[in-house]
Formats: sequence, C-alpha cells, structure tokens
Amino acid sequence: MPAFVISEKCDGCKGQDKTACMYICPNDLMKLDKDRMKAYNQEYDACWECLCCAKICPQQAIDLRGYADFVPMGASCVPLRGSQDIMWTVKFRNGVLKRFKFPIRTNDEGSAVPDGGYGAGVDDINNPTYLFTEPASLDFLGTGADVPKLK
Ligand code: SF4
Ligand code: SF4
Repeated sequence: MPAFVISEKCDGCKGQDKTACMYICPNDLMKLDKDRMKAYNQEYDACWECLCCAKICPQQAIDLRGYADFVPMGASCVPLRGSQDIMWTVKFRNGVLKRFKFPIRTNDEGSAVPDGGYGAGVDDINNPTYLFTEPASLDFLGTGADVPKLK
C-alpha cells in the first residue's frame, strides 16, 4: 500500500514553500494543495513505499502499511522520529497497540563521521580488496585491535 496522507492530521507544514514530505520523497510524489493546506500523494502507483515521508512528517500524518516481514498484514505503522531514535507505533488488526523504539544515530544530529572513527582515508576508498573502513571495521579478530591493511 502506498503512503497516503491523513488529511485531518496534516497542517501543510504550516505553509512553507516546500513541505517536509515534498522535500524528502525521492520520487517527487507528494504535493501540497495550497487551498486546503493539505498534502497528498499525487501518484500512488509510483510510490515504492520507502517510508521516508512517513518518518519525516512532523504531524504523523502519513499512514502506511508495514511490510509483511515487519508486521503482519493489516497492521498500521506510525513512526515518530526523534533526533536520536525512532519509535514505531503498530496497531494490529485485532486492535492491539505496540510500540518499538530503535536508536538511529551514533553521533549527534547534524554531524557525520563517514569512516565511523576507523581512521579510513582515500586509499581505503580505492582499495580493490576491501570495502571502505574494512578490514578494521570487520573486527574479525574480535579484540578491537588494529588489523593490518592490505595494499
Ligand atoms: Fe502534511 Fe506531514 Fe506532509 Fe507536512 S510532512 S505537508 S504535515 S503530510
Ligand atoms: Fe515518496 Fe517514499 Fe513516501 Fe512513497 S513512501 S510517497 S516514494 S517518500
């Protein structure tokens, strides 16, 4: 089921030029009806259900059906994203509500540590043997000790 907007909850992101769901959708599917100040998914068929819009919506106004390997069919899932974690509220077909909270960051919001602190450099990107930050990030010795890099 593609993502769709629950009109009653949507506030049009308070009239900004570009709403959060418009900004984040990789397929440019979300559109704002400026007369009603409500967003809508303008092409359901093209929605690949990436869930980005649902996660970013500050009003929890976007509903979706979780994949069957995530929740049983028929359950609804509403995410609430914080700066460090995301909480999913799942409503099952029988009405039972459950909430699951997961961390989504290991560093502060607005910052990035591309190499995860493994000290990788340009040479690592060009290394045909290992993926970026490997082998250090594999920690296959299980000791956390530095692993010699292959050239
Ligand atoms: Fe509405 Fe949410 Fe989209 Fe903002 S992000 S326009 S509140 S659906
Ligand atoms: Fe766009 Fe993904 Fe939302 Fe579908 S689920 S409307 S593709 S952001």
